[in-house]
Amino acid sequence: MDHQWKTVGCSEITLSQLMLPSHSNFSGKIHGGYLLSLMDQIAFACGSKFSGSYCVTASVDRVDFLNPIEVGELVTLKASVNYVGNSSMMVGIRVDAQNIQTGEVKHCNSSYFTMIAKNSSGASIQVPRLRLTSREEVMRYLKAAERIGARQQRIASEPFDGDLTKALAAMASAHADVDLALLQDAAISG
Ligand code: GDP
Repeated sequence: MDHQWKTVGCSEITLSQLMLPSHSNFSGKIHGGYLLSLMDQIAFACGSKFSGSYCVTASVDRVDFLNPIEVGELVTLKASVNYVGNSSMMVGIRVDAQNIQTGEVKHCNSSYFTMIAKNSSGASIQVPRLRLTSREEVMRYLKAAERIGARQQRIASEPFDGDLTKALAAMASAHADVDLALLQDAAISG
């Protein structure tokens, strides 16, 4: 069966929003539930953009609120597809908040949402295969594979030990459904 291939770049989305008093909780910090809602929205947009169909959220791995967000800060969420299964996509999301007056940026959260692509009847459908074009994308792919436990079945039997060259060889020999052809040697070793 012929698959459609797409780069990680095709999935990338950024969303920025100024935090209003109406988003705060009783102690004046931004409500965690509001942030979760923004994260779900960007995961939905990212997965839908990549797959070309609407998605549902299957799971979230995991949400740690690293730093509180204040009213008046500019929150930026960045998302991309890090890994694909048959109809599933793992969407990574990074949340940063910037103090408008000082310019200081703090990392608030990184989470990984598994989204499933659906057709108009609600059936799960095949998503495009992932074309990896940088060392960072390969690292994220490997971490995602490890995270969902797919690594044992589809890539290699050993856990990822940080040796990218060895991991890439294992990926190639296991015929993992990613395209590494665009990766330059310099990108891998750099
Ligand atoms: P990482 O997963 O170890 O790289 O941890 P990070 O906290 O840096 O990022 C979490 C996730 O957010 C990444 O896996 C990406 O999916 C996504 N992400 C991070 N930086 C960017 C960016 O600059 N643009 C986009 N579109 N997504 C990003």
